[in-house]
Amino acid sequence: LAACGKKEKTTLVMATNAEFPPYEYYDGDKIVGIDAEIAEAVAKELGLELKIEDMAFDSIIAAVTSGKADIGAAGMTVTEERKENVNFTDTYAHASQVIIVKEGSSIQSPDDLEGAKIGVQLGTTGDIYAGDIKDAEIERYSKGFEAVQSVLQDKVEAVIIDNEPAKRFLEEAEGLVILDEAFTEEDYAIAVAKDNDELVDDINAALKTLKENGTLDEIIAKYISA
Ligand code: GLN
Repeated sequence: LAACGKKEKTTLVMATNAEFPPYEYYDGDKIVGIDAEIAEAVAKELGLELKIEDMAFDSIIAAVTSGKADIGAAGMTVTEERKENVNFTDTYAHASQVIIVKEGSSIQSPDDLEGAKIGVQLGTTGDIYAGDIKDAEIERYSKGFEAVQSVLQDKVEAVIIDNEPAKRFLEEAEGLVILDEAFTEEDYAIAVAKDNDELVDDINAALKTLKENGTLDEIIAKYISA
């Protein structure tokens, strides 16, 4: 090992934004959630110790490309644009972008978003897709929950956000509803640096094991009731 001149890797550093329940959020001082537990299980499979770094969502890809973090695990949707900067592992969750409005809102489907004032979380797929809505006025928030609260405060008419966090946020924001028709369907995966194919392969192998031995389903069931 000494001859190879490279320090042996003992930790797996995960960049995330712990404002995204049930995927990553604080329980006291500890970051918990589906991504935190999957990453923990993957690290264990790889014989590494997981270290979680909490940061703004729109800093995660830069943390991965610069090598500050080994992986980005943040309910991150696989998109063609992001693939230009990072590699993604196999997907581990299916998700959708949903629309949150006030009860009784005139916005009742994605088509009604035309010309509306829409809140999103900065740098998320909700932010990216909202840009395609005709005449919409976009308000960007650093936290998803702030965007949700702004509907209650009548600062925006609707919020586009991931389905599971939407459900969690609504538990703490009475008077809001999630529209039945989702805005888009998408898949989450773990982001890895472009030049690190070996890590992508190792994580995919670990994910496969965790899928086969039921760990993945167990983790998801712990946080999402069917
Ligand atoms: N799934 C969304 C995205 O990838 C939001 C993720 C998040 O806010 N953590 O952009």
